[in-house]
Amino acid sequence: MTIKTHTLIIGGGPAGSTAARFLAKNGKDVIVLERNLNYIKPCGGGLSINSFDEFEIPYDAIKKTTKSIILVSPSGQRLEINLKDNNIAIVERGEFDRILRKQAEKCGARIINAELKDIHGKSKYEIIAEGERNLYKIEAEYIVAADGVNSKTRTILGLKPIKSFFTISEYISDIFVDNCEFWFGSSHAPNAYSWVFPANNGISIGTGTFSQGTIHAFFDKFIQRVGINKHGIRKVYRIPVWQGDLFNIDKILFAGDSAGHVLPLTYEGIYYAMKSAEYAARAIIDNKVSNYKKKWKSRFQKRFLLMCKLRDYFLKNDESTERLVSIHRRAEIQDASLRLWLAKESSKGSLMDYIKLIGNLLK
Ligand SMILES: Cc1cc2nc3c(=O)[nH]c(=O)nc-3n(C[C@H](O)[C@H](O)[C@H](O)COP(=O)(O)OP(=O)(O)OC[C@H]3O[C@@H](n4cnc5c(N)ncnc54)[C@H](O)[C@@H]3O)c2cc1C
Repeated sequence: MTIKTHTLIIGGGPAGSTAARFLAKNGKDVIVLERNLNYIKPCGGGLSINSFDEFEIPYDAIKKTTKSIILVSPSGQRLEINLKDNNIAIVERGEFDRILRKQAEKCGARIINAELKDIHGKSKYEIIAEGERNLYKIEAEYIVAADGVNSKTRTILGLKPIKSFFTISEYISDIFVDNCEFWFGSSHAPNAYSWVFPANNGISIGTGTFSQGTIHAFFDKFIQRVGINKHGIRKVYRIPVWQGDLFNIDKILFAGDSAGHVLPLTYEGIYYAMKSAEYAARAIIDNKVSNYKKKWKSRFQKRFLLMCKLRDYFLKNDESTERLVSIHRRAEIQDASLRLWLAKESSKGSLMDYIKLIGNLLK
């Protein structure tokens, strides 16, 4: 079956659906290829509540709202930080992704349940995709690669795989926490963190590491530390480590995890998947691909670089992570961190203020 479209989007996760919505709203003919419409992406599902207004996402998608976060240092110091008005909303990813795809469809995007197999061409593309019953040949002027951390588009184009680290996570039912908890310690999350987040009728619990071989042992240690005896189904998945080196190859634009747009240190990816997709879509609408990189860099580059520095400094070892938790006892540091992380302030002034504040404390 041969179909023509203006833009083909590969992947119907947060990045793909957001790009589709923006493009369709602006009158472009758009197809989203999604290989599994029932897919539940392994994810804590936490994102700032402000994102719902920014992207006009219905509040029905929110399963829980947390008003505080808890930091637990390697030595067990516990710190509760009130989020003020920047609360974190928790979504269930299967449902959230479906809602975003529905919104894109309402704006006129077509969703095709098929898997990307191949891409031919340079300035006009022919894409081969396989559905349960059909083999599709799709001709498109633009492609948005929103196919996640294991991006097949990258493989087809011969690009190197995304730098990433490993996570292991479980959903456990009938255990409840009120807030998002971030646990630090080299015994279970060297150079990373472990988490316990509220979820729908349970919790999402997990840990991260750069070494896949040790991940189950780290997770067992974390479960022991938290004191949980119940088990769910373990899922191992990768999270990109941001490099900022891929925006497009000709008229193929990469958005979300396929481009590695995940905030260093916090590893927040849903918001940045949607925002990068919006910028990619706007560049396509303007028929000026280079606008994507320009817009993304002017809004986020400094913040991402700063977060890389903070990650390298604070997640170096237990001593530095202990310091990360202890400086957050100060009200002015809490305010500055929340502005940077959840309110997404990125003006040069606010970043400089943050650097000065932290720098003075660490002297
Ligand atoms: C354990 C874990 C916890 C996390 N917790 C959080 C959190 O609490 N908050 C947060 O903000 N971020 C979190 N993240 C990161 C977040 O999940 C990702 O950054 C986000 O999902 C990226 O969205 P995306 O649309 O770019 O990619 P994805 O969500 O991965 O979507 C890609 C889509 O493409 C489809 N696809 C892939 N290949 C093909 C193909 N060949 N053909 C057709 N379709 C294809 C997939 O089925 C999928 O639907 C977490 C990640 C992990 C691993």
